[in-house]
Amino acid sequence: MSSLFPALTEHPAGRPALRFGARSLTYAELAAAAGAVAARVRGADRVAVWATPALETAVAVVGTLLAGVAAVPLNPRSGEKELRHILSDSAPTLLLAAPGDELPAAVRELDRADVDVRAAGPVPEERAGDGDPALIVYTSGTTGPPKGAVLPRRALATTLDALADAWRWTGDDVLVHGLPLFHVHGLVLGVLGPLRRGGALRHLGRFSPEGVARELNEGATMLFGVPTMYHRIAEALPGDPELAKALGRARLLVSGSAALPVHDHERIAAATGRRVIERYGMTETLMNTSVRADGEPRAGTVGVPLPGVELRLVEEDGTEVTAYDGETVGEIQVRGPNLFTAYLNRPDATAAAFTADGFFRTGDMAVRDPDGYVRIVGRKATDLIKSGGYKIGAGEIENALLEHPGVREAAVTGEPDADLGERIVAWVVPADPARPPGLEELAGHVARRLAPHKRPRVVRHLDALPRNDMGKVMKRELGRG
Ligand code: ATP
Ligand code: MG
Repeated sequence: MSSLFPALTEHPAGRPALRFGARSLTYAELAAAAGAVAARVRGADRVAVWATPALETAVAVVGTLLAGVAAVPLNPRSGEKELRHILSDSAPTLLLAAPGDELPAAVRELDRADVDVRAAGPVPEERAGDGDPALIVYTSGTTGPPKGAVLPRRALATTLDALADAWRWTGDDVLVHGLPLFHVHGLVLGVLGPLRRGGALRHLGRFSPEGVARELNEGATMLFGVPTMYHRIAEALPGDPELAKALGRARLLVSGSAALPVHDHERIAAATGRRVIERYGMTETLMNTSVRADGEPRAGTVGVPLPGVELRLVEEDGTEVTAYDGETVGEIQVRGPNLFTAYLNRPDATAAAFTADGFFRTGDMAVRDPDGYVRIVGRKATDLIKSGGYKIGAGEIENALLEHPGVREAAVTGEPDADLGERIVAWVVPADPARPPGLEELAGHVARRLAPHKRPRVVRHLDALPRNDMGKVMKRELGRG
């Protein structure tokens, strides 16, 4: 197939490619360093990458892809147990890390090579085929133990080119992000995306609203973030007119990995004049839908299918939802060249994930608005509550709760109830711990906004919601102890 990164050899030598904090590489320097990595890993079957938010991770992954070898990004914050699971599952023969990275025992058993970002090697011709594995990325483990999704080179190229179309993403864009690099959001979109376009990435190392403002003031054009980051921005905006001005300069503010609360979307829009664009994807499918740069960014929707993605909603009994009525809920199923090929070592899970006609069952439930915009209701496993004969999505109740001034964070679950089948439980982090809003107050608030049967029957107060490294709420941990 053709090269994943034509810009490595086509760009003028001094063009900026990557900057992590104070360290940076031009396209020529990146090409040389990645060429050296490619020479080192050639012939390996699979290579693990200790994916800290650093230049070395980007160089390691690009070099491995140039060599046609599959890379397995590892989360440096994983516990020993999870690392051992991932290493025995993916069986890499080599580990790439930055000089000085200290590794836990589980990883030290691997053959290690340090990545030298100042090394120089020739850029090899990319000989791997479209269907060859490029990355093995483990899912976030939100609903169960992480599974290794085998992503072919075709999926990477397809998804990045589809986003370029939807977002008018070019080599002139400068992206800022502060996401981790062991998931598709931070790595595929955030690092490989700019490099495929021939543009620049500036990584914050550690996300902060001030860091975002600084980069936007210094010429960055796009921001990628997860909802917890936009929440922090929304919270910071009232006291920081400079932040509002900086965000107003961005060409594109993009959110993904979980639903962006409507309340945060609206607060950012009011303060900056910019609406955050949401896109929807998964480890297994890369990106499926997005609001387009020239589309109407509406709060609470993830936009339309990307070019090349076939998307349908299917009801429990197998009928396809044809109504664009904003009401009829179905599971999102997708088919297209953006999909993974299999879960590693899990033929059972792989087979169960696909329909007979080759659509992937995402496990996410959605409706379609009259103009075709997809609106995610929640996950089938944790966000669909069957109460009193109704099917109720947790997301709209969470959005309603977040509009209450006494609520800082909220998550909604269902638990068994003798009368209702399931009762709605609201897990609430109070804005003021001394004055937590009670059940009567919140039930009335929700009933007035949505419908009486959507009101919570139980309110439980927490200091913080359990979240993973991507800021996703781990609902399966709610209610335990
Ligand atoms: P696991 O599959 O291990 O339980 P996970 O599904 O959280 O974990 P990922 O592949 O990282 O792992 O996340 C994909 C999921 O994230 C989607 O299935 C969807 O539920 C959610 N998601 C991603 N983007 C959005 C979005 N814009 N709005 C709502 N949900 C989103
Ligand atoms: Mg999943």
